Amino acid sequence: MMNATAIASNFIKTIVEEDQRTGKNNGHVITRFPPEPNGYLHIGHAKSICLNFGLAREFNGACHLRFDDTNPIKEDVEYVESIKRDVRWLGFDWGENLFFASDYFDRLHDFAVALIRRGKAYVCSLSTEEIRAYRGTLTEPGRDSPYRNRDVAENLDLFARMRAGEFEEGGHVLRAKIDMASPNVSLRDPVIYRIKKAVHHRTGDVWCIYPMYDFAHCLSDSIEGVTHSICTLEFENNRPLYHWFLDTLETPCHPEQIEFARLNLSYTVLSKRKLIQLVRDKIVSGWDDPRMPTISGMRRRGVPPQALRNFCDRIGVARADSMVDISLLEHCIRDVLNVRAPRVMAVLRPLKVVITNYPEGQVEELEAPLHPENPDMGNRTIPFARELYIEQDDFMEEPPKKFYRLAPGREVRLRYGYYITCREVIKNDQGEIVELRCTYDPASRGGGTPDGRKVKATLHWVCAQTANPARVRIYDHLFTTANPNEAPEGKDFRANINPNSLEVLEGCRVEPHLAGAESGSRWQFERLGYFSVDPVDSTPDELIFNRIISLRDTWAKVQAAEGKKTS
Ligand code: ATP
Ligand code: MG
Repeated sequence: MMNATAIASNFIKTIVEEDQRTGKNNGHVITRFPPEPNGYLHIGHAKSICLNFGLAREFNGACHLRFDDTNPIKEDVEYVESIKRDVRWLGFDWGENLFFASDYFDRLHDFAVALIRRGKAYVCSLSTEEIRAYRGTLTEPGRDSPYRNRDVAENLDLFARMRAGEFEEGGHVLRAKIDMASPNVSLRDPVIYRIKKAVHHRTGDVWCIYPMYDFAHCLSDSIEGVTHSICTLEFENNRPLYHWFLDTLETPCHPEQIEFARLNLSYTVLSKRKLIQLVRDKIVSGWDDPRMPTISGMRRRGVPPQALRNFCDRIGVARADSMVDISLLEHCIRDVLNVRAPRVMAVLRPLKVVITNYPEGQVEELEAPLHPENPDMGNRTIPFARELYIEQDDFMEEPPKKFYRLAPGREVRLRYGYYITCREVIKNDQGEIVELRCTYDPASRGGGTPDGRKVKATLHWVCAQTANPARVRIYDHLFTTANPNEAPEGKDFRANINPNSLEVLEGCRVEPHLAGAESGSRWQFERLGYFSVDPVDSTPDELIFNRIISLRDTWAKVQAAEGKKTS
């Protein structure tokens, strides 16, 4: 059934539909998004969020937001808050269903005790290195730990003393007793509890033993009644373990684990570990630097959440790993902004133009639509006066063949204004062009003339007297190579950082309509791209804009070229 909230068809949706048809889980659909609060969310997480919340919404189920906070060392409330904010901003609502794995510490502990009682877990006193050595390799089986046959009573006693804080970190661990010879390494008696004398951001110092991810995750899913536990492909090998815990403990709820391919995006790194490095090394200004692939970075840059949702829908969900071209994301961003962003004019590198036949002191108000295809957005007035600014790039003293913009003796149209002709070029002592003297044709008001004469270019411009000063930040990809994870010998991904990913333009001028532009508001600067008012640094006294994206659509070009090839 298609409805407004339907997500594109994919193999997981097909599984859910089939479960609905056969009445599995009594027709309920409960999914969850389980971030570890050890960093900010990125666009890869957005894929998982859109999938999990999208399925729940479509099948009238629920999607839980569960913090997988089992590692007190790396986790922080700052991350918890940022994750909640990002999920909400993306347009999803977990309602009452906000959970923390740490809320289950008591029950997880009891599950561990239950495993010991069933003879399915034991306290192992090998060191971390020894455990690794005993584990074997992909081609060789592991060896049994000498502590594997401790009896239940001894295990219960040791585990209780681990919990009571009697031992140092690394002294003992609790391991599941499965099969050291299993071809699947994750089934070779995995560690399920370790001693960590660390303060947890929610449970404080109540615990000095913490459960491992594989153990906590499946049981948390089961406790919450999750029906479809959707995760990324790297957990495929852990699936038998997921089921082993639930089968061995005979939990009443046994979710199905389904894996999908994580998002990889060209010119981007999507690993929290690497993103943290960019922040710590101050290569970017923070997690919300507009060049970051984080949700907070994209929000700050001005990317609309709708564009991210559309992108996630377009890329689909599959089981095969692939790299998505970043131009598809950019295309989705332009698509939304094209419809929504009001049009205004701004000059980023101003060149002064004096209209010598325009009366001094006169200012007239020209009327222009805020959106050429959407009259509902209304109009704005643009002042026109004797002194204007145009873009430096839009003038050449000695224009080459295909340059149609302004040049000495040439006539062009000023958008929504008049035709002007360049009569004189003024230079400073260094020979730099500082001003153009032009004349205008009063009969060309609004952009046409009674004699219908043609001009080859239309330029954007602002009135010098009334324009507002602004600062504009232009962003490029943060990395110079499509796959930044591939670095030259002896170097890491940071070798691929683009040193020119940020350009700050001072002394820009924007039309007066932007004077009161709201924090975060998004605009199209005609001929230049889409820009937003920086929500952090912009002030009414100094407007600061982020360029969200240029107008050029490389994805549409790629598609057109491919269309040509195949047809
Ligand atoms: P990272 O590899 O960036 O550190 P992670 O997988 O450790 O990410 P979690 O906080 O554990 O981060 O992720 C929460 C959920 O988001 C998990 O279900 C994970 O599978 C999913 N996820 C993380 N990265 C991606 C990605 N690139 N594409 C799709 N889903 C992802
Ligand atoms: Mg993870």
